[in-house]
Amino acid sequence: MNLPGPSATEEACASSSAPLLERPPAPRLPPVLDVNGLRKSYRTPDGDTKLVVAVDRFTLAAGAQLGLKGSSGSGKTTFLNLIAGIVKSDAGSILLNGVELTELPESKRDRLRATTLGCVYQSFNLLQGYTCLDNVLLAMSFGAGRDRAFATALLGRVGLSHRLDYYPRQLSIGQQQRVAVARALANRPKLVLADEPTGNLDATLAAETLALLREACAEQNAALLLVSHDRDILAQFEHVAEFKQLNHPANS
Ligand code: ADP
Ligand code: MG
Repeated sequence: MNLPGPSATEEACASSSAPLLERPPAPRLPPVLDVNGLRKSYRTPDGDTKLVVAVDRFTLAAGAQLGLKGSSGSGKTTFLNLIAGIVKSDAGSILLNGVELTELPESKRDRLRATTLGCVYQSFNLLQGYTCLDNVLLAMSFGAGRDRAFATALLGRVGLSHRLDYYPRQLSIGQQQRVAVARALANRPKLVLADEPTGNLDATLAAETLALLREACAEQNAALLLVSHDRDILAQFEHVAEFKQLNHPANS
């Protein structure tokens, strides 16, 4: 039996790039971060004012991962600290998960940071007097509330199930940074800020730790904004932006 061949129309459709069935558009989530007209100056020791951050527009989509590349002294840490609400801006707007951070009083800013953000620093910033598990539980107590099962699961995810009761000083450098990764995810953040997080690790450990950070953020649906001057580290990212393309303190 001969099956009917495709009609001319069917062949045209099959060979064209137009989809045969219209897919419904993917739902557009609001950006997790939307920065507008952000300015920050510092006073220099000789009394001058130095503009350090002048970012007209920067957005980051929910769940996105972006590496920001910039040289030392270019204002990367200041930019992240503004987003975290640790440093107060002179002007501009920072919408974090839809909330205007710059208009919040300090207590609400701290609360928004605790519930929305996770941070990973170059120097880890673990609390030395607390075990790994307690470092994660303490972070939870400022945000979503202590959840021992989830804290244990996070530490397991970063390969530290066997080190829950160890103090930071009893861990290797790489293990300490993995505790910091678990802690950053403790409150199921929408955004993780990472400031040169692998700067204290050797190249192999840096690559492994960053891969873990990226995977863990993706699993937890957290966006990741990482700043670094290290090409090898940034090479892991699909999306990398030059901080100097974004930040124009000299022209403002
Ligand atoms: P990066 O992280 O890219 O190395 P920073 O944001 O740490 O850059 O610093 C950018 C500039 O802002 C530097 O010139 C630094 O000296 C200055 N700066 C940062 N913090 C302060 C501060 N608290 N007081 C005065 N100047 C500061
Ligand atoms: Mg810095």
